[in-house]
Amino acid sequence: MGRYTGPVCRICRTEQKKLMLKGARCKSDKCAMDRKRPAPGKDPKARPGKRSDYGVQLREKQKLKKIYGMLEKQFRLFFERSARMHGITGENLFAQLERRLDNVVYRLRFASSRSQARQLVSHGHILVNGRKINIPSYLVKVNDEVSVAENSRGMTLVKDALKEFGRSGVMPWLSLDPDEMKGKFLAAPKRGEITDLGDIKEQMIIEHYSK
Ligand code: SF4
Repeated sequence: MGRYTGPVCRICRTEQKKLMLKGARCKSDKCAMDRKRPAPGKDPKARPGKRSDYGVQLREKQKLKKIYGMLEKQFRLFFERSARMHGITGENLFAQLERRLDNVVYRLRFASSRSQARQLVSHGHILVNGRKINIPSYLVKVNDEVSVAENSRGMTLVKDALKEFGRSGVMPWLSLDPDEMKGKFLAAPKRGEITDLGDIKEQMIIEHYSK
């Protein structure tokens, strides 16, 4: 199955949660979720039905997968790798997801959404330790330097994202030099530090894949 190319806000409406998939629009009054748009195909006046345990676990997994813009096969591989690692599977899963290069580019404010960041990476605008990497799922390591390629520093998309989002700083496991358009991945984050994903219940995702 290919990547989802339909209306992005529909994904949030399906999950009935702001997944912040569209950059600046998500913070504007145009956000479909802020306008209380119902789930696709649902009568807004209908009472919410009760979900089975399986349904709840599935939705939790779908939410996380869609936030990071991943397809099922790749997300499952991330999960399986996290389960094989030492430590707590849920913690490992978040740490792995946060190491994805497209996510780091988004977190460093070089793009206003993860999908925009993915495009920057796959079009060759991003360097890791000075070397061009065009694989969005590339896993950044501790102390790796991620930067915008010299020839791409004039891109309006990057400058606008840094201007719009750079004001709020970066997550504590990253450092950013906005003038040089480069940043560092200082450490794999702990689950408790990832404060912008809301109430994703990773235990449900573990139960979903453990069946
Ligand atoms: Fe989701 Fe952003 Fe669309 Fe709002 S604007 S529904 S948060 S993708």
